[in-house]
Amino acid sequence: MMVNGRPTLTCASYLTDHLPGPVRVEPLRHFPVIRDLVVDLASFLTKLTRVKPWIVRDDEPAEPEVEYRQTPEELERYHQFSQCINCLLCYSACPIVGLEAGFTGPAAIALAQRYNLDSRDRGARERLEILSGDHGIWDCTFVGECSVVCPKNVDPAGAIQQYKLSSALDTLRSFVLPWGK
Ligand code: SF4
Repeated sequence: MMVNGRPTLTCASYLTDHLPGPVRVEPLRHFPVIRDLVVDLASFLTKLTRVKPWIVRDDEPAEPEVEYRQTPEELERYHQFSQCINCLLCYSACPIVGLEAGFTGPAAIALAQRYNLDSRDRGARERLEILSGDHGIWDCTFVGECSVVCPKNVDPAGAIQQYKLSSALDTLRSFVLPWGK
């Protein structure tokens, strides 16, 4: 919710944090309000699904009990981005989400990067094509407030910058190696 105009994880906040008051509690900014403090998250769920936040593999084994084991180092690569709790404070803090309702937004992009960095995943190229297009990473102007308000230190702004670098390198590669990336 918004507390005194700031996106706040209210389940982890105390009134004493806001003494001597007054305390103004409002629904999360940049989402349609259903009623009172309840907002409609349908647009976020659509954006989230778009980036395929799951492990993509086209060689899915027939035996469901097959395990894809990872080393602690492989886990560490994406662990930070996997800590997202979908509180959506980052969407409320982001001025671009306020201006461009279609912008995929910080948490969805951070989750896309979480799967890109997972050694079991093969969907990075698919996600890069989606996020390099309309309403993707290039809408972000790197204000950085998403990472400032994130209560789980996910650093979505960092994820978006990593993505921009990948997208730029991909474009460069397509000029240098036009017959195939
Ligand atoms: S990235 Fe952080 S602020 Fe955004 S939804 Fe996830 S936990 Fe919340």
